[in-house]
Amino acid sequence: MIRDRDQLSRLLNDVRTFIRDECLPLEEQVDRDGAIPESVVQRMRDIGLFGHSIPEEFGGAGLTTEELVLVNFEVSQVSTAFRARFGGNTGIASESIVADGTESQKVKFLPLLASGKLTGCFALTEPDAGSDATALKTRAVADGEHFVLAGRKCFITNAPIADLFTVFARTDERERGADGITAFLVERNTPGLTTSPEYEKMGQHGSPVGDVILDRVRIHRDSIVGELENAGFRTAMKALNKQRINLASLCVGPAIRLIREMVGYAHTRKQFGKSIGEYQLVQQMIADSNTEAHAARALVLETSRKRDAGIDVTMEASMCKLFASEMCGRVADRAVQVFGGNAFFRGNVAERFYRDARVFRLYEGTSQIHIANIAKHTMLSMREMHVPF
Ligand SMILES: Cc1cc2nc3c(=O)[nH]c(=O)nc-3n(C[C@H](O)[C@H](O)[C@H](O)COP(=O)(O)OP(=O)(O)OC[C@H]3O[C@@H](n4cnc5c(N)ncnc54)[C@H](O)[C@@H]3O)c2cc1C
Repeated sequence: MIRDRDQLSRLLNDVRTFIRDECLPLEEQVDRDGAIPESVVQRMRDIGLFGHSIPEEFGGAGLTTEELVLVNFEVSQVSTAFRARFGGNTGIASESIVADGTESQKVKFLPLLASGKLTGCFALTEPDAGSDATALKTRAVADGEHFVLAGRKCFITNAPIADLFTVFARTDERERGADGITAFLVERNTPGLTTSPEYEKMGQHGSPVGDVILDRVRIHRDSIVGELENAGFRTAMKALNKQRINLASLCVGPAIRLIREMVGYAHTRKQFGKSIGEYQLVQQMIADSNTEAHAARALVLETSRKRDAGIDVTMEASMCKLFASEMCGRVADRAVQVFGGNAFFRGNVAERFYRDARVFRLYEGTSQIHIANIAKHTMLSMREMHVPF
């Protein structure tokens, strides 16, 4: 749903200008140094990038799913690390509070997340609980008005720099699956909470990822998201459902960028006396990439509109994540092919996006997990219909 087309087009224009003029020239530097300059982060705060999805009453822009997706198509046309710096706050790191938080949690944290004064993160994954997140071993044991948390989270985006951690822990030992898990809001300075140094990664340099270590962290009950004890996994799923549409839209931007880069190179690179863009085999790689990027864009937009209309898009969100991330991987692979040997060396745009895009098929549900989810929903819904037409 688009609320005001003129206002949105001004926002998209501002975002495009910032990305093109202030982030694009720094892509190679950020990939090499593994850090986004603080001056750029401050500009992100100044132009409101941290608060796009947070409701207006709490200092954000309150963008609808469709509006946010359109912004994501723009911001993801530069190295993914730029978007990852503010993307947690306007996605997975605020969504649990937006969806299920109490009024006082919203008042306390959302304005700080929206302004970028706080950086948030979402700490679900553990060494033995990846795709099966309900196997988490982090425990929260009740002690009067408090809980004591112990465990270790891994692969957490922004953990090394985060100020606020949404931590998922088991609170009911009698339960084994999704029930009995609780979401806690833990602040950085809480005794017992530490984070590891950031990992060395294949790609997305400049987007720090690390462990969260919880060593007898004492947390008051009022830090439970929405005070919903034992219902934290449902909160996580709400956040992840929206995030899957977000992430799908963030796979479209790199594809658009790479298609543009492929076309530019195909025009200028000459072999056998002609530009390589004159060869139909090269044209096919460009045509296939553009067709698939359009298809992903259309699917993401349709799903975002349905979500804004209040329709359950659990299955469609999985379809978006699966199709767009696989599409982005194929486009990045073709971009390497079009750039030829040049793309095997550091400093080449296709090489960088190829590394950066690989993780899209892994996090927020691997492709296999989304395939299983789509199959489950498809078979359930069709079984209920009973008749073929
Ligand atoms: C850069 C990065 C950032 C991340 N950021 C965060 C974050 O901020 N917060 C957070 O909580 N997590 C984060 N993660 C974790 C991410 O969500 C997990 O890596 C992901 O869910 C997969 O879990 P896993 O790595 O343990 O793989 P596994 O679950 O061990 O999977 C290994 C393989 O087995 C397959 N597999 C597993 N189960 C099945 C099945 N039932 N059917 C078929 N195939 C199956 C998988 O598809 C995969 O191919 C991040 C990961 C990365 C790499």
